Amino acid sequence: MHWADVVAKEVADTCDHPLIATGISPTGIIHVGSLREAITGESVRSAVEGLGKEVRLIYLIDSFDPLRKRYDFLPEKFEEYVGMPISRIPCPCGKHRNYAHHFVQPFLDAVDSLGVKCEIIWTHELYEEGKFAECIDKTFKKRDQIIQILHEVTGKEAKDDYAPYNPVCEKCGRFTKPIFDTYEFPFVEYDCNCGHHGKADIRKGDGKLTWRLEWPAKWMIFGTSAEPFGKDHAAAGGSYDSGKRLVSEIYGGKAPHPIPYEFVQLKGVGQMHKSLGCSVTGLDAINMTPPEVLNYLFLRVNPSRAIDYDSGMGTLDMADEYDRMERLFFGGEWTDSEENSVRAYEIAQHNHVPSKLPLQVPYRHLVNVVQMASDFDGVMDILSRTEDMSEASSEDIDRLKRRVSCVRYWLNGFAPDQVKFSIQQSIPADVELTMNEKVFFQALVTRMNDCPWDAETINTIISEIAKESPIGSKGAYKALYKILIGKTAGPRIGSFLASMDKKFVINRFIQASQ
Ligand SMILES: [Zn+2]
Ligand SMILES: [Zn+2]
Repeated sequence: MHWADVVAKEVADTCDHPLIATGISPTGIIHVGSLREAITGESVRSAVEGLGKEVRLIYLIDSFDPLRKRYDFLPEKFEEYVGMPISRIPCPCGKHRNYAHHFVQPFLDAVDSLGVKCEIIWTHELYEEGKFAECIDKTFKKRDQIIQILHEVTGKEAKDDYAPYNPVCEKCGRFTKPIFDTYEFPFVEYDCNCGHHGKADIRKGDGKLTWRLEWPAKWMIFGTSAEPFGKDHAAAGGSYDSGKRLVSEIYGGKAPHPIPYEFVQLKGVGQMHKSLGCSVTGLDAINMTPPEVLNYLFLRVNPSRAIDYDSGMGTLDMADEYDRMERLFFGGEWTDSEENSVRAYEIAQHNHVPSKLPLQVPYRHLVNVVQMASDFDGVMDILSRTEDMSEASSEDIDRLKRRVSCVRYWLNGFAPDQVKFSIQQSIPADVELTMNEKVFFQALVTRMNDCPWDAETINTIISEIAKESPIGSKGAYKALYKILIGKTAGPRIGSFLASMDKKFVINRFIQASQ
């Protein structure tokens, strides 16, 4: 049974109104791992839905977290905002409502394109609306018990001055510590480092719970049934362990079904984003991997297993594997060892499985075609030389467009040089051909003038002529790539030539033979 089905069954059996929670802390750059969380949450949601239960998926944005430091990618001016809630810090580009929006909006757009059906919830709004007030009140009243629980769970020394709630100073806007014995619902006083003495109202956005207390408080507010989270939170003594006890002993609730997931490791990284201190962001991953393939990538293995996200050739392998599973799914036959991957393909459709096998253009071929065309119409022209595009539905065309845009993004920042080429407008000036090569091209012209223009025929003619020629087949390929793309290697020659206009190719051969 696929892992998402296992979790879904457990959730559907034990909860009347299942709610899956997932979230993100948009303090800085959003990593590929955050995609795993969103997709894991959505897959459980759609699997529960598939069992006939009404289910919600919420996406909690930690927009009331403080900016912990001025990251390298932030202008110097942001030094003054360190320690303030990110919902109250201006956006770095001037186009968004605030800092939190600036970093999370592109990601939310992307998550939407992955088909994740969630309700977006901004944590700072929950505080401003007083949703946390009941939990914060309990937190003040049972502070000694909280300190004891945290000591028992983490094994760390109990600290008498531990503050589970931090007011925001009304003067300087930074988080500060409360004076515990001044607490009387709904107010607590504080002395800020800036010299200001003030009073916070726990029913308003005047302060926030620390992470260890905020997480179980969110479970209370929403009645969360299941939640994916990074394995660091799942470690012994980690925030899930403490949250489990705090939610039942302090708040009187229940912890959600945990779905801890392993991190995503990056391989074959590109050259971009040196200033961000990371090479592939979550947004890169979304921009260069077709959404259905990205969904599949995260679903095909159990969350407890690490995933290598390979932004190099692995991107192509993954798309090929996805397409293969799609063919198996529609073919209705697969082996036991393929069972899990085929089901992963199905779940990746989020209950919108296509009614028939979609048009499949081999992804590697598309990489070549995109480099031969200047726009999408050009891609369609080239494809129609080698495939029957007349049957393509509007969904097929939409998918093709998405894939073309992913391929372009990948070629621009991540693809290894060996797959990149551009068709030269004429034979490159530095290419000098030997007499044997010229004769080879002359023979190609003669044979190809009236041959059918398909990959197989082209391959046969080239290999037959090369066999007779002193340049041999190795020399033949080299000469072909030299006059077409100015390199000594390139895409597979048969389908490459068949994808081009026949007249164009023959003219180039004529040029080369003179
Ligand atoms: Zn902005
Ligand atoms: Zn202050």
